[in-house]
Amino acid sequence: MINKNFLNLANNYLFAEIARKVQVFKAENPKANIISLGIGDVTQPLCPAVIEALHKAADEMAVAATFRGYGPEQGYDFLRNAIVDNDFKSRDIDIVADEIFVSDGAKSDTGNFQELLSADCVVAVTDPVYPVYVDSNIMAGRRIVKLPCTAENNFIPEVPLLSPQGEKNSSSSGEAGKGLVIYLCYPNNPTGTTLTKEQLKKWVDYALANNALIFYDAAYEAFIQNDDVPHSIYEIEGAKHCAVEFHSFSKTAGFTGIRCGYTVVPKDLPVPLNSLWNRRQCTKFNGTSYLSQRAAEAIYTPEGKGQVRATIKYYMDNARVMRQDLTDLGFKVYGGEDAPYLWVSTPKDMTSWDFFDWMLRSAYVVCTPGAGFGPSGEGYVRLTAFGTHENTEKALRRMANRL
Ligand code: PLP
Repeated sequence: MINKNFLNLANNYLFAEIARKVQVFKAENPKANIISLGIGDVTQPLCPAVIEALHKAADEMAVAATFRGYGPEQGYDFLRNAIVDNDFKSRDIDIVADEIFVSDGAKSDTGNFQELLSADCVVAVTDPVYPVYVDSNIMAGRRIVKLPCTAENNFIPEVPLLSPQGEKNSSSSGEAGKGLVIYLCYPNNPTGTTLTKEQLKKWVDYALANNALIFYDAAYEAFIQNDDVPHSIYEIEGAKHCAVEFHSFSKTAGFTGIRCGYTVVPKDLPVPLNSLWNRRQCTKFNGTSYLSQRAAEAIYTPEGKGQVRATIKYYMDNARVMRQDLTDLGFKVYGGEDAPYLWVSTPKDMTSWDFFDWMLRSAYVVCTPGAGFGPSGEGYVRLTAFGTHENTEKALRRMANRL
């Protein structure tokens, strides 16, 4: 009766397990003032331009003449056009409005998009990885290949080896002929590391040469500081022929509670994913709320852009301080330069869950154990820069005092 693939999932979603451990600790230590540098939620409020747009949209809903009911499943034109102009045209990328599908966020889209793949398609993910790509494909019963990313390879995954006959070779990571989809997320969650344009080009070239598809998660592109790091995979020539790209306003503009994101599905792909995704969305999705879409549109106004940039700077200031202080404390720290995540090596002889327990019990600080993101995450924890300045500094002081 049930889909048995679900029985192959790890028992608990990572963040649910962390929350459970923190609850237990809180129950035992009700006075402990816990600071979370764990789950990637934001702390800063929505910017004034977004609040103004929300008020305006709410007022429109109160009047019959401007009330909106069901909207287009693909998103309102006002937002699709703002996205095209600001995220693509401004970078000389030729993406048009009906290649943009507005959604309630990138978790749904990165989780749901695999529905368009055949059951025997092989899926490659970087390891460690945002768990949604893996779990949604386990639910569908697909074979998953992990591409390790550790300090040893500078967190740069190696392209999977495909044998031309579709047979596995000793280090084969996929089977040609069945179809290969590669999930890439840059700037990366959890490691906070990036690929340069040149490094990403290797993946685009590989996908084009092997008829593979790339599902590119650009949820953290707004945090990029370095000019050499691409904001969109479509900055790389040929990517429109092999890549789908996911975006989120959650971290860019504090939309974790508002909910809005979008997915780019080019019409130039060798398989008709644009029309299939459209068909899928029309069947299963009734559109993103009008209020959320007006709120998202506001971040593309000149005021909105400036305000969003200021909040990103706020978080990236945290990241800078964290990098510096943790390095001074003797930790090996990766990421945090173009991303709001820092990937920190655990002290010798401590697993990532040991270090999680130590941080919680001695410093009252919550981190995310790297092992929860995949086997190559063992030996690391993830810290986020999404806290307030005060809490971030307090957490760092507590760690320094306990070491
Ligand atoms: N993709 C990555 C890599 C993420 O880290 C997250 C959120 O943490 C998402 C997608 C989901 O974002 P949204 O809030 O838009 O669903």
